[in-house]
Amino acid sequence: MSKLLQAVRGMNDLLPDQLVVWQHVEAVTRATLEEYGYRELRFPVVESTELFARAIGAVTDIVEKEMYTFADRNGDSLTLRPEGTAVCVRAALSNGLLHNQTQRLWYQGPMFRHERPQKGRYRQFHQIGVEAFGMAGPDVDAETILIAARLWRRLGLDGLRLELNSLGSAAARAAYRAVLVAHFERHVATLDAEAQRRLAHNPLRLLDSKDPALADLIASAPSLLDHLDAESRAHFDSLQQSLSDAGLAFRVNPRLVRGLDYYNRTVFEWLTDRLGSQDAVCSGGRYDGLVEQLGGAATPAVGWAMGVERLVALVEAAGRAPAASAPDAYLVLVGAPAERAGVTLAERLRDAVPGLRLTVNCGGGSLKSQLKRADKCGARHALVLGDDELAREVVAVKDLRGAGDQTSHDFAALAARLHATVQAR
Ligand code: ATP
Ligand code: MG
Repeated sequence: MSKLLQAVRGMNDLLPDQLVVWQHVEAVTRATLEEYGYRELRFPVVESTELFARAIGAVTDIVEKEMYTFADRNGDSLTLRPEGTAVCVRAALSNGLLHNQTQRLWYQGPMFRHERPQKGRYRQFHQIGVEAFGMAGPDVDAETILIAARLWRRLGLDGLRLELNSLGSAAARAAYRAVLVAHFERHVATLDAEAQRRLAHNPLRLLDSKDPALADLIASAPSLLDHLDAESRAHFDSLQQSLSDAGLAFRVNPRLVRGLDYYNRTVFEWLTDRLGSQDAVCSGGRYDGLVEQLGGAATPAVGWAMGVERLVALVEAAGRAPAASAPDAYLVLVGAPAERAGVTLAERLRDAVPGLRLTVNCGGGSLKSQLKRADKCGARHALVLGDDELAREVVAVKDLRGAGDQTSHDFAALAARLHATVQAR
C-alpha cells in the first residue's frame, strides 16, 4: 500500500458534520449583512506581494513572518492573501467601484498566515469581513460595530466584549510616536533585541506586545488618547455616544493598536474569554489613508474581519449548533424491476414535493440491509418498493422515527404524506 498523504500542517479539511455549524454561521451572517445593505465581493486568493507589503506595512508580524510568498513561473512575486482589506481595496479600485460613490461591501473566504498552529490559530483560516467606503463620519463606524453585535445575538452568543480605541490622525500619531519612543528609550536597557527593533521601526507595535517583560513599561506608557487631534477626539466621542445610545457596552482600551499599519482613528476588537489565548473574534477599524496609498483618490473607509473558525467554536461551545439535516425519506428498492422503476419514482416525487430530502438506495442489497441504511442516515420514513408493491402500484411507507407503523400508499397519497413531512420539519 502506498503511504497516505496528509494535509499541509495548519490547514484543515472541513467535514460534513462540522460544516453544519459553518453553514449556519455563514447563512446568518449573509442574511444580516444583506439586511444592512452590504453586497458581497469576491476576489482572488493570490495577489502580488507588493499589495500587502504596501498596505499592511513592512514592520508587521504579517509581512515580516507570516506570508506565504512565492515566485510564479514568470518570476513574479505572489502571495496567498493573509487578509482581505488590502485586496478589497485593490479590487474596488481595479473595478472603478469607488468612483464618486459610497460602497458597502463584504467578503468571505480563506486567508493564509504562516503562524504556529494551535487551537483557534491555523495557517489556512477563514474570515468574513465588511468594508464601507466613502463615509467619513462616526455613524458608519457605529453601523459596522452594531452589525457585529446583531450577529452575536442572532447566533445566540453572549460574553463577547467590545474594546475600542482611537489612533487619531496620521499627524497626531506621529507626534504621539515621538512621546512613546522617548518613554521606551528611557528604559532601553530592559528591552530585548526584538523590542528595540520595533522601537526603531514601529514603536506603536510595542503596545501590542504580549511579552510579560514589557508589561510594566507598557502600562506606564503615555496614552495615545491624550494625544488625539481635536477632530479625532470629536469623532471618537461621537462614536461612543452612538454605541451607548444603542445600548451597547464597550471598554475604551488605550493600548489597543492592532497589528496592521493602515488603521487610523477608530480601532476595535471583539474579545472572548472562552477560547483560551486566541481571544480575538472580530477586529477592525478605520483606514482613511489606504485607498489613496494604493493609488486611488482619497476615500475614507472602515471595516472589520471576523475569524470564522473562532466563531464556529463559540457557537459550538454555547450549544447553539443546529442539528444536521436528515433525509425525509429513504427509498428502498428490492429486486431489479423495482430498481429500474425507482429512478423514475424518485424523480416524480422530487417534482411533486418541493424541498423533499430523498435519498435513493443505490447498489442493491437485501430489504433488511437497506432498511438498516435508511435508519442509519436518520431518515424519517423508509419508502419500500418491491415486486409486490410494483404489482399493486403502491409504495409501502415505514415510519422510522415514530411508532414504526407501515402503510401502503398510491402515488398521490404518498406525495401528500411526504409534503406534510416536509412542512412539519
Ligand atoms: P490575533 O491577535 O489572534 O493574531 P489578528 O490581530 O492577527 O489576531 P486580524 O488580522 O485582525 O487578527 O484578523 C481578524 C480575525 O481573524 C481575528 O480577530 C481572528 O478571529 C481571526 N484570525 C486571525 N489570525 C488567525 C489564524 N491564524 N487562525 C484563525 N483565525 C485567525
Ligand atoms: Mg495575528
